Amino acid sequence: MADTPILQLENVRKVYSSGDIEFEALRGVTLSVDQGEYVAVVGPSGSGKSTLMNILGCLDVATEGRYEIGGEDVGKMDEVDLAEVRGRRIGFVFQQFNLLASMSAWRNVELPLSYAGVGPAERKRRAIAALESVGLGDKINNRPGQLSGGQQQRAAIARALVTEPMLLLADEPTGNLDSASAREILDIFDQVHRSGRTIVLITHDWDVAGRTDRSIEVRDGMILERGPGRREPQLAEVGK
Ligand code: ADP
Repeated sequence: MADTPILQLENVRKVYSSGDIEFEALRGVTLSVDQGEYVAVVGPSGSGKSTLMNILGCLDVATEGRYEIGGEDVGKMDEVDLAEVRGRRIGFVFQQFNLLASMSAWRNVELPLSYAGVGPAERKRRAIAALESVGLGDKINNRPGQLSGGQQQRAAIARALVTEPMLLLADEPTGNLDSASAREILDIFDQVHRSGRTIVLITHDWDVAGRTDRSIEVRDGMILERGPGRREPQLAEVGK
């Protein structure tokens, strides 16, 4: 496995301003993720995880600092470049699945390919293959309302992977699921990881983080710890 960093953040700050009030949600974050790594970003609510996810996913820009994805400086990209990164180089998985209710599973999954200009026959073939890879080969014609929560999240993972992105970025992907479905989703992430894909998984749940290679702990907008997947005992009550 190559160890070229696929993501590199240097001293990234994010300041939200509203009127006279400024709030520093990220206070100088430096981290790198290597190609093929499976990393959790863990922290309690309000710690800055979503802010970090938005910057990693090129959905928002840092106030200060440097962010490189695949060796390219995101700060130098224009809107067209950023849209290309979001559409083809990153696959997103969200807590709420975000599937279109009126469309069948395979139509949902082929959508990113249609934005990428892939022809209809190829789109359908790849969408069905992606659904088969997450165990939904017999549900391709079901609409989201005809799928369980776990199945909907599996379809969302198929949609995220169908463009063969360099990075899978997941925000609380098991947050809306019962524990059996959550385990199934994490098993699929293991399988995606084994296939060599880089995964960054954002979670408040240390049990979920424990399934990854490495946990990056975020607290009050700063990185506290970069250890193995499981929480280190000495961190149990930091600052208490
Ligand atoms: P998490 O995802 O870990 O819950 P967030 O990144 O959503 O944390 O938020 C980190 C901090 O930044 C919180 O205190 C939150 O209130 C604040 N924050 C987030 N978004 C905004 C915004 N648009 N304007 C002002 N403050 C914000």
